Amino acid sequence: MNRPIRFSNLERTEKLQCLANEPFDLVVIGGGITGGGIALDAASRGLKVALLEKGDFASGTSSKSTKLIHGGLRYLKQFDFWLVKEVGSERAIVHKLAPHLVLPEKMLLPLIEGGSYGKWLTSIGLKVYDVLAQVTGDDKRQMLDQKEALKLEPLLPKKILNGAGYYAEYRTDDARLTIENIKTSLEFGALALNYAKVTDFVYEEESVAGVVMEDTLSGKNIRVNTKYVISAAGPWVDELRSVNQSKKGKRLHLTKGVHLVFPFEKLPVKQSVYFDIPDGRMMFAIPRGKITYVGTTDTNYNLDKDDIRTDLADAIYLISAVNNMFPDIELEMDDIISSWAGLRPLIHEEGKSASELSRKDEIFTSDTGLISIAGGKLTGYRKMAERVVNRITKKLEEEHQMTVKDCHTDKIALCGSDFKKFKHVKKYIEKVHEQIRTDGFTRYDAWYLVTTYGKQTQQILEDYQLFKNKDNTLRLIRAELKFGIEYEMVCTPMDFFIRRTGRLYFDINNVREYLEPVLDDLKKAYGYDSSQIQVFKEKMQEELDVHSNFSLEREKV
Ligand code: FAD
Repeated sequence: MNRPIRFSNLERTEKLQCLANEPFDLVVIGGGITGGGIALDAASRGLKVALLEKGDFASGTSSKSTKLIHGGLRYLKQFDFWLVKEVGSERAIVHKLAPHLVLPEKMLLPLIEGGSYGKWLTSIGLKVYDVLAQVTGDDKRQMLDQKEALKLEPLLPKKILNGAGYYAEYRTDDARLTIENIKTSLEFGALALNYAKVTDFVYEEESVAGVVMEDTLSGKNIRVNTKYVISAAGPWVDELRSVNQSKKGKRLHLTKGVHLVFPFEKLPVKQSVYFDIPDGRMMFAIPRGKITYVGTTDTNYNLDKDDIRTDLADAIYLISAVNNMFPDIELEMDDIISSWAGLRPLIHEEGKSASELSRKDEIFTSDTGLISIAGGKLTGYRKMAERVVNRITKKLEEEHQMTVKDCHTDKIALCGSDFKKFKHVKKYIEKVHEQIRTDGFTRYDAWYLVTTYGKQTQQILEDYQLFKNKDNTLRLIRAELKFGIEYEMVCTPMDFFIRRTGRLYFDINNVREYLEPVLDDLKKAYGYDSSQIQVFKEKMQEELDVHSNFSLEREKV
């Protein structure tokens, strides 16, 4: 496994100079999964690409999804066959590109008396789902009777359980999928920068010919020259269309989705379940290492896009739904240890409710040439990128007589994915476990490292040897942080604990325990002064509070 390309804020000055001085073929606005996918697609076709992200990579919706690479079973109900076919087929491709990061996950769909679907409809629905997504072999759906369903998930309500559907999906870590796409784009010459906000467009002969970018760490503004601009700004797409004075016709419709996290012991589901809730919607319960998470809600949202919170009402709604499906569980508010809330950047359709809106992506091109892409799913990011980059390559050929390669991202393994098959990932987890078990680490730790970093784990374990702390967990965290600073543009404790490692969601106590040494190492690496470190500390503590505290007291405040 080759070392990844250095990708560090320690070289920020050089990156800013390059942005200011070199002309680009394409500037991509937004470092979520859509922007990351576009940067990789375009750079791998030979375009000179700059990707600019106003916060940290994946700090928008792309770290707040249900983290499933799924075919969207529920879109069958809306007769969105095209969408189901596309994202269904994409699942297997994205799994192949990053088998350590996009893991097969069987889903159980309980058939409950009075539920949305009966046995017959579920059987047909799942069959159509398999056919559309070209699912083969053992992954094909099975229909289970009550006994079989209870064997897989004993917590289901026996009295009203008629059986279950059992079908194949994949799960991932959305923020990691985003950063690995961006890192892979660097291998093809892309330049990517976080904390780089596009504030305006530059025009030549009434066409977009560049962007004005604010380096939010220094406050400096830079003009970046480019032939074309794609805005993949997710929930912020309409804001940039307004800056471009092209917000007309279709517009975004933002809906909020919340997930809650419980210690695994409090919600010990043996496997992922997709279940009916009393208001006719469906939701997921997904076990993941030390925790189980549940979600999601789907409510209209018109408040601050940079401060999306889980409200008490969201928490109560989700807890009641879980308690309804798993009657022996009796979850309470105090059982919540973490949560996340994100915005779906959907396309508005008159008269449709949040849940009814299509998840299809759309591309808007303004009179001045700004191309915006919105809607869509995490799962379909690669195809979305292909579609929108095709528009650019056509223009490059027509307007600049450039010859551009066809899309071939279906053959570009993502960083860390040096595995031919999924069974090799499993073997690698065992190998890593052998390496670290004598230092007191468990199989979970090996699983965490491999499903987070893939083969890049080896580099982290080499750096682990450099640290001499008595506490081995601290040594490992410091090695991960070193990797994050040198190869993943980590600048703040939030970048590290939330987006690069998912610890805020999946191991929140670890954040509380190791915040101080992480701040120390960031201070050493970047020379931050004490007041900056204090700001980071307070911000991280606020994040811990916002994500885990839903007391009535806070709601009253
Ligand atoms: P974002 O991730 O929001 O990225 C846009 C980026 O643009 C942001 O990082 C933002 O900071 C940046 N930006 C904005 N303005 C500027 C500017 N002026 N300058 C520079 N940068 C800027 N899909 C699935 O396939 N599977 C799921 O399980 C799933 N679950 C979901 C659950 C929930 C609750 C939600 C909300 C969505 C879910 N989705 C799922 C959908 C999926 O998460 C989104 O479609 C996807 O993450 C959107 O990615 P994006 O890159 O378009 O937007």
